[in-house]
Amino acid sequence: MPSEGASSTPLLEQYEGVKAQYPGHLVLFRVGDFYETFGDDAKLLARELEVVLTARAPDASGSRMPMAGVPHHAVESYLGRLVRKGYKVAVCDQVEDARFAKGLVRREVTRVVTPGTVVEERILPGADHNFLAAVVVPRSGPPAYSAVDITTGEWFHGVGSGPGAESAAAALAAFAPREVLYASDGADSIAVLSRTLRREFPVARLEPAPLPLAPSELPERISTAAGVAETTRESDARLAAYVRSTQPRLLPFLEVVEGPGARRLALDGKTLRHLEVTQSMNPDDPKGATLLSVWDESTTAPGHRTIAFWLRQPLADVPSIRGRLDAVEHLVGRGIGLRHGVERLRPFADVARIAARVAGRRVRPPELGALRESLSAANDLRAWLGGDELPDLLDQLRRRLAPLTELEALLGRALVPELPSAVDDGNLFRTGFDPTVDALEKEERDGLGALESLERREQETTGIRTLRVRYNQVFGYYFEVSRPNLPRVPAHFRRKQTVAQGERFTSEELAELERRILEARERRDHALGERWEELLAQIDRHVPAIHRLARAVGELDALVAFARLAQERGLARPEVDTSRSLTVRDGRHPVLDRLLAGRFVPNDTELDADGARVLVLTGPNMAGKSTYMRQLGLIVLLAQCGSFVPARFARVGVVSRLYTRMGFTDEIGRGKSSFMVEMSEVAEILRGSDAGSLVLLDEVGRGTSTFDGLALAWATLRYLHDRIGCRTVLATHYHQLTQLVESLPGARNAHLAVRESGDEIVFLHQVVPGSTDRSLGLHVARLAGVPSDLVRDAEQLLKRLDAGELPVAGSVRARGRSARYTQAILLPTDAGGSEVERALRELDPDRLAPLDALRWVTEWRRRLEGPGPEEDA
Ligand code: ADP
Ligand code: MG
Repeated sequence: MPSEGASSTPLLEQYEGVKAQYPGHLVLFRVGDFYETFGDDAKLLARELEVVLTARAPDASGSRMPMAGVPHHAVESYLGRLVRKGYKVAVCDQVEDARFAKGLVRREVTRVVTPGTVVEERILPGADHNFLAAVVVPRSGPPAYSAVDITTGEWFHGVGSGPGAESAAAALAAFAPREVLYASDGADSIAVLSRTLRREFPVARLEPAPLPLAPSELPERISTAAGVAETTRESDARLAAYVRSTQPRLLPFLEVVEGPGARRLALDGKTLRHLEVTQSMNPDDPKGATLLSVWDESTTAPGHRTIAFWLRQPLADVPSIRGRLDAVEHLVGRGIGLRHGVERLRPFADVARIAARVAGRRVRPPELGALRESLSAANDLRAWLGGDELPDLLDQLRRRLAPLTELEALLGRALVPELPSAVDDGNLFRTGFDPTVDALEKEERDGLGALESLERREQETTGIRTLRVRYNQVFGYYFEVSRPNLPRVPAHFRRKQTVAQGERFTSEELAELERRILEARERRDHALGERWEELLAQIDRHVPAIHRLARAVGELDALVAFARLAQERGLARPEVDTSRSLTVRDGRHPVLDRLLAGRFVPNDTELDADGARVLVLTGPNMAGKSTYMRQLGLIVLLAQCGSFVPARFARVGVVSRLYTRMGFTDEIGRGKSSFMVEMSEVAEILRGSDAGSLVLLDEVGRGTSTFDGLALAWATLRYLHDRIGCRTVLATHYHQLTQLVESLPGARNAHLAVRESGDEIVFLHQVVPGSTDRSLGLHVARLAGVPSDLVRDAEQLLKRLDAGELPVAGSVRARGRSARYTQAILLPTDAGGSEVERALRELDPDRLAPLDALRWVTEWRRRLEGPGPEEDA
């Protein structure tokens, strides 16, 4: 007989068979109480989960197969960790009872878990959207994308704005997908596409897309979407194919919630990162403040998702934006009454996900209780909203909050008020809901009652007052008689077991009762399971309606949150129109304004694509240039989300596309040299923008030698001004650019004011017209604690430079030395001085990692000390 031990070769063959069916998956293979992996997968599992790597018994050839496993009861948390690390896991279970199996137990893959298709509460990372996406890059024309959150049922699709892999990545950026499927028959090879996606989504799981499903196999709510390009049909069909292979039960419940017609403010990944919309850019503080973290005043999980989604995908058409603003304004007008709305939102559970777990059959009874309570909360919410004189959007939301009467009645009829945590704990259904379950529960109760009276009867007839009927897993029911009472045990008791305190017996009557109870219990469990499944199947029909309800609640919650922000933070309703102007009075940076609590200096902005459209900003380091530019981008973004904005007044002519580029500080570690990155970014912007865009460029041309950079910045500025004509703010340390500005009719100079008194300088953080040619670098150096001798020395050099006594940039260039930064102009190139000084000059502090700096210092110290430190000792 083949054994089931982990040493049996047939077992390994079975495992290999499953592996072959699930290529690319990590297979967790149930053996006894563990999920095991073997071979390379075992090594991987041991490494990723820090579990022990063992080995099977040696086989015929004496080699030992590596093996690693996790206990079955903890599998969910291990699955969560694997999925977060980007693995795709197939869980293979025993599908017959090991006691009755002939030979090897039959095993099948019962679920596949991937980062983009999980629904389990304990695996999902919080309430955030969890997108799975597919992109298809066709031979010509723009790429198509589809994105779905299967836990909320929301399906989005459309096409990118230009051809090629970059455009595919940009189209998906706002979804922040956790898993991306890709296909290409365009000019970009599949390798280029996957590399581009990897750069944009460093932690997502990437995989070539599966073959598309046939149109007839697509869920109706996707296949019937109107106005869809042929390529989008393909990305839909490929995405659906993947969902079918991983979460087949959920496929029918997915629905297109926004078609290709929707107008969105286009934000690519870099812009989202630079503006720190949902992610902090500070590598030392990845959990630092973001726009989302200061703007998410939501009460419910769907509300949180809605705000995050809105911030990443603001609108770009005036009527929808005004619709939201009207709703927010109405809610602001409710004053203190807004609090009642929040109280009515509070009991609302994450019913979208509960519905997905119903559909995926991964739901626990208490979650249905939460669903039931949420449905009645939605009724309260609708009542709170009222019916009279609501602005359009709120009126629509009120209608979308219509009660799910049938479902409410079903849950009310079926379930007891306090639900058990698992189905077979029993006491789940109300009496009368299922006669079979009732009858079996009654039978079990009767049996237990009979047991009690038997116990009483035997106590009386034997006179043993302490005689008890007890139960354990191994021996079932038995009479327990303590040692001193043993002489009084009657003849019809049969001994079962001897224990320290006495003996355990059974009798014919007890055995019969036991059989009756256990049988009733088994049949009850079975009936409960069946009835539960039936109930879930009945709820299935309502899953799309629950998803829609959750979306309505989420949107209302987001609007309420915006209204509260407006009440609490002194925000203004922006005027949004189809003009090309952008006017802000006393604008503030939404995040810094919070962090600086009242010390933030507000600033104005005035741009108009039909007039003064370009602003060139100069000012010393730390004066507030970057802050000012981000603030402008964020105010536009918030206005187009339908939020009030941190300003006294704002007028926003709708922006169709927002670009921000912040020097070369970003994209480090994303695999390109900084100048190359900068130039490809500039190229992207010039290709992608038009008169409706807003372009914010911080320090263009820094990644190259002085004159290249200046020339490129100059030409870029002129191109934006003359050819594209979009609203532009450009911060620069090239003071030469301010001269160009004077020759361009649509460009203005501005700078950040500082106040100097004696040696002190104070950054006023105030944007004022005109240019400044003071870099104040030396002041900054002094403030930063650079030794005062050095600063004085630098002052002398600066004077000589100004007086033309030292060779400057021209000669730098003539000698072909790489002077990477403008600051290099300030340094005499005649490489005099000591070796250390020369080495120091060649050092590029902006790119020096702290550890390397330390190493550098140590190394020079060692050299200066000369050989043999022992001699000093
Ligand atoms: P720059 O880009 O000119 O070097 P930043 O925009 O990075 O300067 O600003 C540097 C610091 O100055 C910010 O971190 C912030 O603390 C402060 N700051 C900038 N703008 C303001 C402002 N308007 N009000 C108050 N503090 C500001
Ligand atoms: Mg800056």
